[in-house]
Amino acid sequence: MPFTPFHLGPGALFKAVGGNRFSFMVFGGAQFLMDIEPLVRMQAGDDILHGPTHTVFGALVIGAIAAGTGKPISSTVLRSLRTDSRTLTWRVSFVSAFIGTFSHVLFDAVMHRDMAPFWPFASGNPFLDVVSILWLHAFCFASGLLGLTVILLRGERTPDKN
Ligand SMILES: [Zn+2]
Repeated sequence: MPFTPFHLGPGALFKAVGGNRFSFMVFGGAQFLMDIEPLVRMQAGDDILHGPTHTVFGALVIGAIAAGTGKPISSTVLRSLRTDSRTLTWRVSFVSAFIGTFSHVLFDAVMHRDMAPFWPFASGNPFLDVVSILWLHAFCFASGLLGLTVILLRGERTPDKN
C-alpha cells in the first residue's frame, strides 16, 4: 500500500547508526517518491501496482532523483529550523537516498506479489514471502523503536537533525 510509514522504521535505525552521515529527511523523501507509481496505478485501477519503480533499476533512477532534489530541499528546511546543514553533503544525500530506495524495493518485495525486482533481466519475485508480513512489520516497528530510542538517548549530547 502506498505511503505506509513502515519504511520509516528502518530509516530511524539507519539514522541512529549513521548519525551525521545519514539524512532521515532525504531517506523519507525517497520513500515518498518510490510510492508515487503505486498510488497513481491504484487510482487508475491497475492490476499491477508495483511496476518499474519497484525494481533495482527503478531504485537507481528514483534514488538519483531523491538525492538530487533532497539535498537542496532538506538543506533549506534545516536552515529554516536554524539547524546546521553543512553535514548534509551530496555524498550523504546520495547514500541516504539509495539506502532508502533499495531498502524500499527489498521490503516491498517481501509482501507484494505483483513485483519483479530484477525486471527487465528476470521476471518473478524471489523475495516474496521470505518472511511473513507480520514479521516484516514487527521488524520495521522494532527497528523504528530501537532507532528512536538511540537517537533520543544520544540527542542531548550531539544534536543532529538532518
Ligand atoms: Zn512501495
